[in-house]
Amino acid sequence: MHGRRLVYLDNAATTQKPKAVMEESRRYYEMLNSNIHRGTHYLARAATEAYEEARGEVARHLNAARPEEVVFTAGTTDGINLVADVLGLTGEIGAGDEVLISTLEHHSNIVPWQMLCERTGAVLRVVPCDEDGVLDTEAYRELLGPRTKVVALTWISNAFGTVVPVREMVGQAREAGAYTLVDAAQAVPHMAVNTGDLGADFLVFSGHKIYANTGIGVLWGRHALLESLPPWRGGGEMIKEVTFEKTTYNQPPFKYEAGTPNIEGALSLAAGLRFVNAIGMEEIHAHEGVLLREAAAEIADIDDIRVYGPADRACSLSFGFPDAHHYDVGTLLDQMGVAVRTGHHCCQPLMARFGVSGTIRASFALYNTHDDVAEFSAALRKALRMVR
Ligand code: PMP
Repeated sequence: MHGRRLVYLDNAATTQKPKAVMEESRRYYEMLNSNIHRGTHYLARAATEAYEEARGEVARHLNAARPEEVVFTAGTTDGINLVADVLGLTGEIGAGDEVLISTLEHHSNIVPWQMLCERTGAVLRVVPCDEDGVLDTEAYRELLGPRTKVVALTWISNAFGTVVPVREMVGQAREAGAYTLVDAAQAVPHMAVNTGDLGADFLVFSGHKIYANTGIGVLWGRHALLESLPPWRGGGEMIKEVTFEKTTYNQPPFKYEAGTPNIEGALSLAAGLRFVNAIGMEEIHAHEGVLLREAAAEIADIDDIRVYGPADRACSLSFGFPDAHHYDVGTLLDQMGVAVRTGHHCCQPLMARFGVSGTIRASFALYNTHDDVAEFSAALRKALRMVR
């Protein structure tokens, strides 16, 4: 990058792709390309089988009760919109009811709920966080009540790397009778995720953050809920029978997969999961943790640095300076071959809570190395000498 070895530290935005994933996309188009579910010919059957095997791979990875709990979506945002829209259609959420999210949320886990509130007259409530970017779980318990209809929480903050105790929080939300959704966009790539143990109703993530292609993601949902909730988009594959008078709907997951899905994307996601599982999620989590702690220690003594988020962060290390704009620092780092993200990280309310327009964020993946950390730290010090 600019004549230097790339140090890619923008993994929270998207990951680089391993050969195994790219080869799987190629294999699909060269060897299997066909529309699925509807054909009797060889390729249609083979593509259908590969797509359903990919679903099985996701189900195993998440420890889902059954593959039918895995709905392929376009990504995290798509999955949250699906759930918010469908919950809105139930008629169970009305004026004065509450949807509870947290200060740490990505816009994708804010805006669909705001839209739901606009449509239903429900009120959006927000769990506050402390100066370390840790959620106030006491305030959370106080916010939970009989009017709480939905609790939607991020598991790991993309902006600060805070790991939210979602298991406990989801348990409390269920006791209050609320639907629960976990935004696992940053959790699934960085730790073992077990939907069987989590207790949530819904969990969403994106393929492109776990080494797979863009345009594919997953909504995992409890089977009974996917069965009983209303359908979302209408079209092919989500139907059982159509007459001009009335349509009956297919079983989950097909009920929520209207139209030709991203077949290649699903296969690439399965390849991405095989890639991480060949290494092991525990190993990946431990490796990234070492690099995060190393990076935090490397930059801790820089004058006037403000590091955001708790010390036991995952994935992302976010920081800023009172006298150096994040954009300028990011631009200089780029010229030195270091790719970081600067700005609000799609978390404008969180930035407002901390009184900043943005931060500099270094986010890690399994392929990052100690050399990456050293080069990042050296480049940062050099950039600061130039702008200060
Ligand atoms: N939630 C979180 C926590 C994220 O990090 C992201 C991506 N930055 C999203 C939601 C949105 O994901 P996508 O753009 O893939 O839909």
